[in-house]
Amino acid sequence: MIPVNEYDIAIIGAGPAGLTAALYAGRSKIRAVVIEAKAPGGQLLNTELIEDYPGFKSILGGDLAAVMLAQAEQFGAEMVYSPVNRIRVEDDGTKVIETDAGEYRAPAVIVTAGGNPRKLDVPGEVELAGRGVSYCAVCDGAFFEGLELAVIGGGDAAVEEAIFLTRYASKVTLVHRREQFRAQPILLEEARNHPKIEILVNKVIVSIDGDHKVTHLQLRDALSERTSRLDVGGVFIFVGFIPNTSLIDTHVDHDAGGYYLTDPMTMMTNVPGIFAAGDVRAQLTRQITTAVGDATTATLAASKWVEERARGHQDTALQVMAEASADGGWVA
Ligand code: NAP
Repeated sequence: MIPVNEYDIAIIGAGPAGLTAALYAGRSKIRAVVIEAKAPGGQLLNTELIEDYPGFKSILGGDLAAVMLAQAEQFGAEMVYSPVNRIRVEDDGTKVIETDAGEYRAPAVIVTAGGNPRKLDVPGEVELAGRGVSYCAVCDGAFFEGLELAVIGGGDAAVEEAIFLTRYASKVTLVHRREQFRAQPILLEEARNHPKIEILVNKVIVSIDGDHKVTHLQLRDALSERTSRLDVGGVFIFVGFIPNTSLIDTHVDHDAGGYYLTDPMTMMTNVPGIFAAGDVRAQLTRQITTAVGDATTATLAASKWVEERARGHQDTALQVMAEASADGGWVA
């Protein structure tokens, strides 16, 4: 017999967004459960040093995760560590979260499930994964002491991790497929000025090569089409992110990248009672601060929505917003 657990809100994922949702749910005395497949912290655990989270001049990712968890637990966060296999929506609107640890039922779900690194999809990437191909500098950087490394990508992650990897590598070549970078200018400037970093632009990765471990990359110049070889002992790939938005078995509106579209006032998706926060949500920026902000809004809106639903009101974001503005806002 599968145990059935009833909650007001189920929070899917315990990264910064999920732990913030847990904190706000706990403080609002909402009955909430946080379901996390791995360890609490999400991408904080893949980040060495965080310097852009207000209140901490700099803090280790793992330490920030531990503080966030402790703070959420202090207010009664109930944690379940189990992969979510599926979320189904029953006819009466109840969301059923199916996990290896049993089923969890709630009228409202806040999806804070983050995502996974996008693959480059070139020959050698799968074959040499774990043998010189990595997607996590904090996890694997120390294995590459004294070697020359390549970092692929032009976003914040690539530039930040290229800088981080200079601790171990004798040289880091940052390889980007075009001239313009998405990364913040302050990070890019730091990389440009770093004596151990070389930046190659307009270079497309053709293949990752090596017999038993990575020895070199084949590159193609995007302008001249000429190919070249880059000798490296390892390659770190940071070419974006694929959001974990395939768990729900009903259609949720999303953009071309699979990110959930949400109402900006409430973080509710088009499906009544399904909210999204953090890296699963379509938005311009994906920072710890924005994840935390999304989750705050989503949780306060979700708790209001659960209340309204219990009173028999219409299950739409518009209705929730109208109620809220008539009340002068949700929370003092
Ligand atoms: P991102 O901003 O989407 O950047 C991905 C990069 O990979 C882009 O430069 C893209 O090139 C490149 N790329 C994509 N597919 C590629 C391919 N097949 N071959 C070669 N290059 C490819 O992703 P991200 O850096 O992982 O960051 C994800 C989000 O997290 C962003 O919102 C970012 O701001 C945030 N983040 C913030 C911080 C921070 O603030 N400290 C740190 C890490 C991440 P094009 O530009 O040509 O498309």
